[in-house]
Amino acid sequence: MTTGTDTDPWRTKYYDSLGRLEEQQLQFRAMETALKRLVGRLCTAALGLAPPLDEQIRKLQAVIRRETTAEELEKLTPALTDAIGALDHPVPPAPVASSTPSQAFAANDERVRAILAALVAELRRDVELVAQADAIDEKLSPALTAEQLPEVLTSLTDLVGKRIQHLERANQEIESLLGHMVGKLDEIGQFVAEQHQNQAQSHASSETLNTQLAGEIKAMGESVESAKDLQLIRQQVRERMDSIDKHLQEFRQREATFAAAISARSDQMRSRILELEAEATRLQSQLQDEQRASTIDVLTRIPNRQAYDKRVEDELHRLRRFKQATCLAVWDVDHFKRINDSYGHRAGDRVLQVVADCFASRIRSTDFIARYGGEEFVMILPGTHLEDASRFSERIRAAIAEIGFHFRGSPVSITVSSGVTALLPDDTAGTAFDRADKALYRAKQEGRNRCVTV
Ligand code: GH3
Ligand code: MG
Ligand code: MG
Repeated sequence: MTTGTDTDPWRTKYYDSLGRLEEQQLQFRAMETALKRLVGRLCTAALGLAPPLDEQIRKLQAVIRRETTAEELEKLTPALTDAIGALDHPVPPAPVASSTPSQAFAANDERVRAILAALVAELRRDVELVAQADAIDEKLSPALTAEQLPEVLTSLTDLVGKRIQHLERANQEIESLLGHMVGKLDEIGQFVAEQHQNQAQSHASSETLNTQLAGEIKAMGESVESAKDLQLIRQQVRERMDSIDKHLQEFRQREATFAAAISARSDQMRSRILELEAEATRLQSQLQDEQRASTIDVLTRIPNRQAYDKRVEDELHRLRRFKQATCLAVWDVDHFKRINDSYGHRAGDRVLQVVADCFASRIRSTDFIARYGGEEFVMILPGTHLEDASRFSERIRAAIAEIGFHFRGSPVSITVSSGVTALLPDDTAGTAFDRADKALYRAKQEGRNRCVTV
């Protein structure tokens, strides 16, 4: 534990985690940029509806063009909301205002709603932002009106800002913890160096004693030889013996001082090492939690696409090495848009959760299922030949078709289609997925609620 080599894997892990946090920050920055771009486009689309609204839009455009704060955006919201509200009670029309309602943005456009919903799902990863993200989610469902859009976008920009702040804070915490631990490791290194020095000093002290004793004994011999009478010899021997005794006492004192210093430092080091171990354990579990959270889909609680990307690479390696038959199945919920349109976004979300549960409960422990995105799922079946994968997919398809969904009191049938393929040694993750995806496309074309194997 005290050596540099033992602590190196820790350092690597911490630096890896810093890297991951920075990556997440970059993702959020990218999301913030996308959101700003979206706000910009919406602003342009909404221009020309009414002069008071134009004025507010220009202010919003000016604000989002530069670095802005959540407070600044918040300040703009009431006036912007009023200006939009006033559209329903028009003041006398402006003389030449070319009001082109077709420019008005279709806020209930399903694609926009899906993008915003994906952003909200990302933000829900942050426990401190769940309540605010849910509040926005409420507004997205069932239909987002044009009047609500600026407010929703402002709140989202605000939340993305907060998420970035939280990530930065987490980053700083880990950095300072790391600094702290490196400091302790340096201290331990210094202790080892001091031990070495103490040993050297102790060695020097014994040498001194040796030299002193040899000197005394030699002097004693000389004085015995040159002494004329016994009385003088006795006196000189006594003096030498006193001197030897003094040297020995000094030596013992030096050794006791060294020993006390070493023991005190050793105790201090022992408690430092215990602290270091406790911190390392805490940091490790924090990192594991973060890692786990970042690979789980927030809505369905099954692995997400990031987890799939890693897993499929692992399985491809294994396949090439052990030549174990492995299959890939890409799944897609049929006519999912209709469910959203007819019963609302929440009902759609519920369907995704039930379908994900059905997949997860039926696969073997060595299999893998992930939500690839939207209403698409992807399954990896290691140790399975294509015919078995095909039969298995067929059973899952039938099981999902059998689930009795009820919306607004009426039974609704939900079906899924899949494309199934075997992983080939020359495949990349991309080529294998494309093959399965093409098979899925055929399943859709051939009428849905079916599995096509290629
Ligand atoms: P097909 O049978 O051809 O697959 O038709 P589809 O309607 O399922 O496919 P399409 O790609 O047209 O529509 C998918 C819809 O899924 C559109 C999108 O808004 C919706 N969607 C994506 N993610 C989510 C989500 O997390 N929750 C909900 N409720 N809907 C989502
Ligand atoms: Mg789809
Ligand atoms: Mg679909």
